[in-house]
Amino acid sequence: MSALTELERRAHAELAACVDAAALRMWHTKYFGDTGAVKLALAQIGKVPKEQRAEYGKEANRVKDALAIAFDAALVKEKDRALERSLTEEVVDVSMPGRNIERGRLHLATRTLREIYSIFADMGFQVYRTREVETDEMNFELLNMPPHHPARDMWDTFHTTTPGVLLRTHTSPGQIHVMREMAPKPVRAILPGMCFRYEQITTRSEIMFQQVEGLAVDQGISMGDLKGAIQAFARRLFGQERKIRIRSSYFPFTEPSIEVDVDCIVCRGKGCGLCKRTGWLEIMGAGLVHPAVLRNGGYDPAKFSGFAFGMGPQRVALLRHGIDDIRLFWGNDLRFLCQF
Ligand SMILES: [Zn+2]
Repeated sequence: MSALTELERRAHAELAACVDAAALRMWHTKYFGDTGAVKLALAQIGKVPKEQRAEYGKEANRVKDALAIAFDAALVKEKDRALERSLTEEVVDVSMPGRNIERGRLHLATRTLREIYSIFADMGFQVYRTREVETDEMNFELLNMPPHHPARDMWDTFHTTTPGVLLRTHTSPGQIHVMREMAPKPVRAILPGMCFRYEQITTRSEIMFQQVEGLAVDQGISMGDLKGAIQAFARRLFGQERKIRIRSSYFPFTEPSIEVDVDCIVCRGKGCGLCKRTGWLEIMGAGLVHPAVLRNGGYDPAKFSGFAFGMGPQRVALLRHGIDDIRLFWGNDLRFLCQF
């Protein structure tokens, strides 16, 4: 019993002498560790003569609880002291100027894309993304370009080491994906994304570039619907007074095919450097979906028709901001990017 009294007195005295958290941890190990003094005292209970055992056990447990409570209290006190120390010793100079936080912004290409999305969203088109690595079948064959079709020469393609697998040369394979998912329900979708072509890099062409393609499929869709949609889009993007001009063209996956120009946003048709004295700027290719493509997408061309169009959002940004080099888009030069 006297050993317990001595243990308690010594433990309290040493606890009171602890000056920091490290000392408290050492104290705890010394008394409450696996071979600590308190543990040993409790282990003694079984060895005490039978007539004293109850009294000894009771006292040993009381000492254990008292020391545990004292330790917790000392821990709380130490936390307060540590806070006090940091407040007085680590003085903050509130008059120092703060660190300047650079404000980020979205890339011009992303902003242009989102603007295009929002215009078509108002017309009920939803954004539908598809993969950048495609099969030859999706990229060419199902879009009415069988092997050896001369239209394949319009694109220099990046082929992968897996035969029949390539980097898509246009977003048009998305037409097949979205039609196969939706058929026979109507489709109104915008298909944006990166395309890849093995071309010489110049101020006007890059090996990777974004395209936005649109597709509408339903019963009774006509050239008039296509013209209306394009005109509404061009006026939202380039200004309400814009006129559009339609020229006939050729794409394997549309019939008839057209190219669409908008009257020059700088000279308004009079002729200037931007429009190369023509008064018109080419903005997109379009047409009515070819019956073979409709069939490949799961629609009966006798009942359904559709229109499709495609444009380069980078080209849109070039025209609107007077940018003269398409390579700036992926150059990651902040001097360029910060201007927008
Ligand atoms: Zn012009």
